[in-house]
Amino acid sequence: MNFDKVILKPGREKSLLRKDLWVYSGAVETPPSAAGNGDTVEIFSHGGNFLARAAWSPSSQIRLRVWSFDQTEDVDSTDFFRRRVRTALELRRTAGILDATDGYRLIAAEGDALPGAVVDIYGDFAVVQLASAGADLRRSELTAALREELPNLRGIYERSDLAVRGKEGLPERTGTIWGEVPPSPVIFREHKLMFAADPLHGHKTGFYFDQRENRRLAGNYASSRRVLNLFSYTGGFGVACAAGGAEHVENVDSSAPALELAAANMELNHIPAERYTNTCDNVFELLRRYEKEGRRFDLIVLDPPKLADSQRNLMKGCRAYKELALRAFKLLEKNGLLFTFSCSGLVDAPLFAKLTSDGALDAGADAAILKRLAQDADHPVRLNHPETEYLKGLLVARV
Ligand code: SAH
Repeated sequence: MNFDKVILKPGREKSLLRKDLWVYSGAVETPPSAAGNGDTVEIFSHGGNFLARAAWSPSSQIRLRVWSFDQTEDVDSTDFFRRRVRTALELRRTAGILDATDGYRLIAAEGDALPGAVVDIYGDFAVVQLASAGADLRRSELTAALREELPNLRGIYERSDLAVRGKEGLPERTGTIWGEVPPSPVIFREHKLMFAADPLHGHKTGFYFDQRENRRLAGNYASSRRVLNLFSYTGGFGVACAAGGAEHVENVDSSAPALELAAANMELNHIPAERYTNTCDNVFELLRRYEKEGRRFDLIVLDPPKLADSQRNLMKGCRAYKELALRAFKLLEKNGLLFTFSCSGLVDAPLFAKLTSDGALDAGADAAILKRLAQDADHPVRLNHPETEYLKGLLVARV
């Protein structure tokens, strides 16, 4: 196969030699002569050395995303995607995910060396999300690979309704790619719990698999506690805490459909109705109100959406994280536990700890970190691609 060539500026090959998967627009000296959006090209250093085969994204700041560092690898083929899918399955088997659940992220984009491509599994259904031009162009090879490696699949559904596709010059797209449409909701198991998710309309592809291990941890600490689950979405943490013996769980979210599923999830796990409430409200306002009312809890989960989504919003996001920590500490009983998270890639772990500690200080709370938390293993952090590490959390005890 002949691929169009991209030549980098002098010295700009360093990140690829370290096996990073992205090249930014500023590193490109000579663009390809004819490659279109998403086409595979070969990247060469200024000195003429082959570096990688990658997908070309002419309208994005991330101009190249690496498929392979091997010049002999058949990157545009179904076989290539089969090998990547097999490696990803093997990693999840090794990590114990396949024994724990039948709902998991099978392909986590750069984390599984398939930039821009996400595949989530819900029982016998796969939900695909394609964020980049390269991944979009290889949709049929990826789909064929999934069908071959997962022979039990009954359907593959696409949820490429992502605003970031605009930066790649791609329209949003949803619908069935192959087979049956997944039921809405679809039911799956996670450890000893059952969950219902809506892959057709829910956030992401319907469920936050990345919090699996943290949900389990919260459940282990929940016995006899009064739990406030903030930004609950479909109640994942709340169900884990209720099943773990919490005295009472209050799920809070601003989305009514999410809370309907939260109620369904409580029922699926046989939690009696008097042991939980689902409150549709704005968390920021509710926290202020509860403080005035003198409400107290023994375990609080704080899992907001990405509050710092761009460099421009970083300060504003940081203020919001601090404010949430402050208000949560005010409601937290002595010896109470706070599970607090940030999924903003721009807020790193030390900064997040600082914001949490600033919040505690202003609330007049003494607290100690019991554990540092992260995304579960089906969202692998790739050593050479640090952007794959995005979810950070702290389990903090008020002392
Ligand atoms: N903890 C959840 C995931 C949270 S995602 C889980 O483990 O599944 C973030 C959630 O915050 C979404 O469900 C969204 O509806 C909700 N949300 C965003 N802003 C909000 C606000 N100001 N008040 C209440 N909920 C909010």
